[in-house]
Amino acid sequence: MHTVVIGGGVIGLTTAYELARQGETVTLVDARGTGLGAAAVNAGWIVPAEAAPVPGPGVVLTSLKWMLRPDSPLYIRPSLAPSFVSFMLGMWRASNAKAQHAGFAAHLALAENTIEVFDEYRADGMDFEMHNEGLLMAFLDKSNLEHHLTHYDLVDSHGLAPTTLVGDQVREQEPLMSDAVQGGLFFPKERHVDPESLMRALHAKLVDLGVELVENAPIDAVERSGDRVAAVRSGARRFDGDRFLLAAGAWTGPVSKLFGQPLPVRPGKGYSVEVAPYGLKSAVNLSDAKVAITPLANKLRLAGTMEFGGLDENINQVRVDAILRAPKAYFRDWEPPASAPVARAGMRPMTPDGLPIIGQLGGIRNAYVSTGHGMLGVTLAPGNARVVADLILQGATSPLLAPFTPARFRGGR
Ligand SMILES: Cc1cc2nc3c(=O)[nH]c(=O)nc-3n(C[C@H](O)[C@H](O)[C@H](O)COP(=O)(O)OP(=O)(O)OC[C@H]3O[C@@H](n4cnc5c(N)ncnc54)[C@H](O)[C@@H]3O)c2cc1C
Repeated sequence: MHTVVIGGGVIGLTTAYELARQGETVTLVDARGTGLGAAAVNAGWIVPAEAAPVPGPGVVLTSLKWMLRPDSPLYIRPSLAPSFVSFMLGMWRASNAKAQHAGFAAHLALAENTIEVFDEYRADGMDFEMHNEGLLMAFLDKSNLEHHLTHYDLVDSHGLAPTTLVGDQVREQEPLMSDAVQGGLFFPKERHVDPESLMRALHAKLVDLGVELVENAPIDAVERSGDRVAAVRSGARRFDGDRFLLAAGAWTGPVSKLFGQPLPVRPGKGYSVEVAPYGLKSAVNLSDAKVAITPLANKLRLAGTMEFGGLDENINQVRVDAILRAPKAYFRDWEPPASAPVARAGMRPMTPDGLPIIGQLGGIRNAYVSTGHGMLGVTLAPGNARVVADLILQGATSPLLAPFTPARFRGGR
C-alpha cells in the first residue's frame, strides 16, 4: 500500500519513517524543503514533564494584559473574523484547571516512551545532536515556581518529578545563575536536540528507506472520489496513493479546507536566535520571561514568544530584542551580542483547546490528520508517529488518541 504524507516537519518526517520502516510505500510532499517550518526554528526540548496545554487558568487574563506591551512574550492580534472569534472562544472555554489537567495527562501518555524512541532513532543510524543533561526552570519570582507545581501529581506519576531548588541551591545546580534567581525546578530526565540536525537525520533516513521525497510542491488541490481521496495535486503534478496523511503544521487550516474538512488550526508564532556558546550545564527555562535557552555543541539557541496573528513568518524585531535581553536578569555576566543575530520565525500549529488533532479526517475513509502539536511537536513526535502508523496500517485506533479526535471539531466529523 502507498501513503502520501503532506508536510515534512517533525510530525510528517517521523510518521513517514514509522510507515516506511513497516514496509509501506511512502511519498512525502512538502511545500518547500523538508524541516524548514517550526520544526527547524524550535528550542529542541524533549520535555514531557512540561507538557501542559497552553489554555489554563488565568491564561486569557494574562493574554489581555500582555496585549498592551509591544515586547511581551504572548500576543494576540485581535480580529473580528468568525474563525478567529470561534478559536478564541474555544480557547477561553478550555482555560480551566480540569481541562488543562486532563490535557496534560493525555500529552504525557502520548509522550510516554519518547526518550526511548529518540534513543532508538539513533540506534537505527540517525545521526543528530542530542543532550541528556536535564532542564532547569529558573524563577525570579517565587510565586511563579509554586504555580508550576500545580500538576506535580501527574509528572510524579510518570517518574518525571523535578527537584525543587531554593535560593543558592539553584546556583549549586547552575553556577552561571545570578543572585536575582529565587528558585528553580530541575528535571533530570528531560533532553534536548539540535532541531536542524534531527530534521537532516530524519530526511537522510527516509532517503535510505526508499521514501520518495518531493520538495517545493505545495498541495493546492484534492481529488475526491465518493468517501475517498483519489489524489492530491500541486499545480500540474498529481500524487495518487491508497491513503493520505495531512501533517502540514500551522498550514493545516487552509490545506484541510481542500479536503472539505476545515480544521481550526492557527499559527502561534515564535522566534529563535543563536549566539555564541555560554557554558551552561543544561537547558534552561527563563520561566518568568518565557524564554527557552538551549545549549548546543557550537552555539546557544534562544527561543520564545507566542503570537496569535496571520499565517506568515515575518519577524517582529521588538519581540526578538526582548528575547535577547531576557537572560541578563538570570545569568551572572550575560551580555547581549553586540549586533543582533539574524532571527528566524516558526509557526506552532495551535488548536483552540491546546491539544493535537490526530485521527481519521472526517468521513473520508482513507485520509488522516496529525497536527496541532503546539509547543510540543518535538516532544510528542515519536509517540505520535507510532500510533498514527498503527492507525493507518492496521486501522488500530489507540485509546491514547481519544482526547485528540478530529471529531471534536465540526470540520473533523
Ligand atoms: C520558537 C519555537 C520554539 C519551540 N520549542 C519547542 C520545543 O522546545 N520542544 C517541542 O517539543 N516543540 C517546540 N516547538 C513546537 C514545535 O516546533 C512544533 O510543534 C512542531 O514543529 C510542529 O511540527 P509540524 O511537523 O506539525 O509542523 P512544521 O514543522 O511547521 O512542518 C509543517 C510542514 O508542512 C509543510 N507544508 C505547509 N503547507 C503545505 C502544503 N500546502 N503542501 C505541502 N506541504 C506543506 C511546510 O512547508 C512544513 O515543512 C517550538 C516552536 C517554536 C516556533
